[in-house]
Parts: sequence; C-alpha cells; structure tokens
Amino acid sequence: MTLTREDFTTLDNNDPLREFRDEFYLPEGMIYLDGNSLGAMPKAARARALEVIDQEWGEDLIKSWNKAGWFELVERLGAKTAKLIGAEADEVIHGDATGLNVYKAVAAALDMRAGRKKIIMEGSNFPTDNYMVQGLIKQLDQGHEIVFAEHDEIMDAINDDVAVLCITHVHYKTGRLLDMEAITKKAHEHGALVIWDLCHSAGALPVDLNGCNVDMAVGCTYKYLNGGPGSQAFVFVAKRHHGKAVQPLTGWWSHEAPFAFERDYRPRKDVRQFSTGTEPIISLATSEVGLDIFLRADMQEIRKKSLKLCDLFIQLIEERCSGHGFEIVTPRDHKVRGSQVAISSENGFPIIQALIDANVIGDFRAPDIMRFGFTPLYVSYTDVWDAVDRLKKIMDSGSWDQDKFKQVGSVT
Ligand SMILES: *Cc1c(COP(=O)(O)O)cnc(C)c1O
Repeated sequence: MTLTREDFTTLDNNDPLREFRDEFYLPEGMIYLDGNSLGAMPKAARARALEVIDQEWGEDLIKSWNKAGWFELVERLGAKTAKLIGAEADEVIHGDATGLNVYKAVAAALDMRAGRKKIIMEGSNFPTDNYMVQGLIKQLDQGHEIVFAEHDEIMDAINDDVAVLCITHVHYKTGRLLDMEAITKKAHEHGALVIWDLCHSAGALPVDLNGCNVDMAVGCTYKYLNGGPGSQAFVFVAKRHHGKAVQPLTGWWSHEAPFAFERDYRPRKDVRQFSTGTEPIISLATSEVGLDIFLRADMQEIRKKSLKLCDLFIQLIEERCSGHGFEIVTPRDHKVRGSQVAISSENGFPIIQALIDANVIGDFRAPDIMRFGFTPLYVSYTDVWDAVDRLKKIMDSGSWDQDKFKQVGSVT
C-alpha cells in the first residue's frame, strides 16, 4: 500500500518520544538530518552556558573548582554517559578529542600486550582513528603494524599475534553496525584486547559494553549526544583493567595526587588516569544538558523509532525517487544497521547542496555518499515524508544540476 503524508502525522501523534522534540531548538522550517555529525542544541544548553559564564566564572571565579564541582565534572559526565553505554559509573571519564582517546587507549593496550605487534583496524573507518594509531606506531618504533580489515574480514583477521583491535561500532559512512559481542569474544579467545569507537552509537542505539566484556571504548559527545560543537570526547576503561591500563600522556590530572605537586609521576589507579590536563569547563558543562535529556529517554524506544524512521526513509526513497540512480548503501537488516541512511549517487554532492538549499540538512561523504542521520529525539516521522518530498521535487525538476550547487566548501 502506498504511504501518504497522513500516515506519518499519525505516527507522530502516537510517538512516545514526541515530547522530547520541544526540548531542542531547531530553526523554523528546517529538517535536520545531520545530528550524526553535529547534534541539535538542547534549549536548556543556552541557559546553562550563561550560568557557567556569569555565575561560576564571572562571580565565583577560582572558587568554582570546588563550589561548582569543576574538577569532578569529567567524572560526573562519565557516570552519566556510563548509563547509556552499559558501563559502571566509575569506568568512564570525559575529556579531550576522540582521536586523543584512541591514542591513549591503544597505547595502553599495546603496553598490556607487549610482544604482540598487530593492531586490527578497519581501513575505511573515519580516518582519524587510523591516523592516530599510525602516529603512535611511528613514535613507539617497536615494529607494530596495522592489519586493515573491513567488516566482513575482521573475524578472520583475529589470531594470536594480535595485540588489540580498534574498531568502530557503527561505520560513519555506511551506517553498518558490527557485532560487538562476537568480535570481542573471539578477540579474547586469542588473548587480544578490544577498543570500540562509539562515535556513531552512543546515544543512537543501546550499547552494552560490560555485557560484551569490552576492554576499552571511546566516543564523542557532539554527534548523537548533542553536546555542542567541539565538545569533549569520553573514554571507557573496564574496571578489571584499572591500574593496569596506563596511558602515556601522563599529565597532572592523571596523577595519583594532583594537588600534592610532587616531582615525579605516579599513575592514578582508576579511569581518571585517562585524563590529561585542565578541560574546557564551559563546553563540558554545556554538554551535560544533552546527557541529562538522554537519561530521561528510553533507549529501547529511541532504537525502535530510529529503525522505523530509517525503514520509512528507505521505503519512500525507493517508492518516490526511483529512476534517479540512487543506491541504498546502508544495510537493511536491523541487526547490522546504526541510525543513518547512506545513499550513493554520482551526483551526490550537488544533490545534497540542493537539498540544503531546500532546508533539508544532510551531508556528503566522498566519493559519492549522501548521508542522512536520524535522531529520534528531535526528528519526526513527518520530517521523513517532507525530506523525501523535497528530494523528489529536486530530482524530478533537475534543479540540483546548477553550478551554484557544485562549489565545494572547506567542510562537506
Ligand atoms: C566523528 C568521529 C571521530 C571524531 O574524532 P575527533 O578526534 O573527536 O575529532 C572519531 N572517530 C569516529 C569513528 C568518528 O565518527
């Protein structure tokens, strides 16, 4: 049966998550399908940022380190994030960029598996993870080697030479979801450690790090978690590794007694050893607002709606935009899909620009992927209908085929 816009408004009316949409600011008329790249702004973030600036910084100044709990903020945010990813409160800490946490986690893991030289990574992964590990290997100069394996090659690549796997749970481009439990289990059978990158899964779907016996994990807060542009990342270290996993960027925030100001380094025995130095407090504080919203939402409902939004988007693309050479790259099987839909098209770049011009925000990933992220807390079913409707008009009229849509900016 062919779907109509009415079907989508009915779905919205029955959506158990519909109340959350009002907690986010979105410009009038915009359909925002890029929350997998930069999450929308929670309305309360603005007030929180002003409070930190005016009161905590302006009025209370240095006193705020104690009075406002600035020093413990990285732990408090960690404890909140832990609830979303199947971790204990004291296994997660916030700080630095994702790439830096990849560096720290892989360095710690290699140290724990001294003698083993192989690191499994996905070559098509978001490149910063690979770049950071390439830099680390060069710096260590101990003959480590990356074994690149794509999603269907990872299991076979695992053997007793592997020190660590550093792989991403949901692929940034295709949206493919890997089997965290099976991969982690096989890695452990061969004595390897596993680090999962959760950039496209934290806040997008239920994650169960301890249920899967994961060793370490990293993730960012500015995508699905709506932490704000450039907000800090987080790192998870399983409790059994505390005191054994020691990262090498041994700044004072990772010292056993930072305010003893000792000459020599002594590592903390908990996840705070993965801290390095003073963090950007305004950004940290603002990102807490996004986390607090998630703690009130049911992650199973988020997953249910996310799958349905993506299913409907795919169905509408196929029903209403056929004949335009679109190919759905994202797996259809729910078991191996994250919360985005990737479509390949040789004209992907100008089509995305024309869509943005029509106030439907997606993004383009070279060489030919149009990427649409679905964030169930603020994307509605009607948005899905309207987005495809606007895409259909652009395709049927050929209006994407204009020079103004072919100019490439510095960020795509
Ligand atoms: C977005 C993303 C990052 C971001 O890295 P930063 O160092 O925080 O800029 C890293 N890894 C993956 C897989 C990502 O999707």
